[in-house]
Amino acid sequence: MIKTLSLTPREHDILINKATERPNTGKFNLSSSDKIGTYLCRQCGLALFRSDDKFTSSCGWPSFDGEIANNVKKVLDKDKVRTEILCARCDGHLGHIFYGEQYTAKNTRYCVNSLSLDFISNNAELLDSEEIILAAGCFWGVQALLNQQQGVIYTQVGYIGDDRLDPDYNIVCSGKTTFVEAVRVIYDPQIISYTDVIKLFFEIHDFCQTDGQGPDKGSQYLSKIFYYTHEQKTLAYEVIKLLEAKYYKVSTVLHPVSSFWPAEEYHQDYYAQNGKQPYCHSRKMIFNYF
Ligand SMILES: [Zn+2]
Repeated sequence: MIKTLSLTPREHDILINKATERPNTGKFNLSSSDKIGTYLCRQCGLALFRSDDKFTSSCGWPSFDGEIANNVKKVLDKDKVRTEILCARCDGHLGHIFYGEQYTAKNTRYCVNSLSLDFISNNAELLDSEEIILAAGCFWGVQALLNQQQGVIYTQVGYIGDDRLDPDYNIVCSGKTTFVEAVRVIYDPQIISYTDVIKLFFEIHDFCQTDGQGPDKGSQYLSKIFYYTHEQKTLAYEVIKLLEAKYYKVSTVLHPVSSFWPAEEYHQDYYAQNGKQPYCHSRKMIFNYF
């Protein structure tokens, strides 16, 4: 699926306008080099690289010496000096490829911008993915419960729903914006469907509350589904109709996706990082589906 609409301006600049992130600033430059998993295209979710092919080059950008077959396109730059690498499906700009530098036995270096990628840990065979962005109150609890679901392979907490640039937790919590706390959910469509992720979303929060979530009151805690496509919107609405048939008064609002700003690192996987169980959210079974 094409996810251009959720890119931040910086991600858009790299993936669409072929910009380059500053060296030694990308989150995958060094930090994930020892983790097993798969690197996906940030713009379309296609699997591009395996962790087995990642190596440390000290060049300042994540380096790989191999790709997942046929998923990376190579195109000679206009100056005919360097060769650009792009996602073979969506043409998102990844970086450049270099040969003959003797870093590894393959003698090849795919030099990639971190912002062009998502990393899925513990999943070394994944080939493709889908995504949905959900807001259901405090993102710590929403993320913790979504992470327990089989087929949900990566989540990231962040802010969405306002035109302002570079939001942080303080401005979102001020109540002076239309941002909500949200979770970007990447899932494996071979294991779980979009509709089942939506059903799970409704089971882990009070979608009837109109002013927030539990004691967390404010516009940043409202229940919202952000859809990428008309099909996603239609399927989400069908689940809402199922709930209304059960006499629930659903307050969840559907919005088209806009820039998703990842939240500060200390908010990511908050409960797991702090060894705590979520107290702001719990699951209440409504649908009999898995
Ligand atoms: Zn792509």
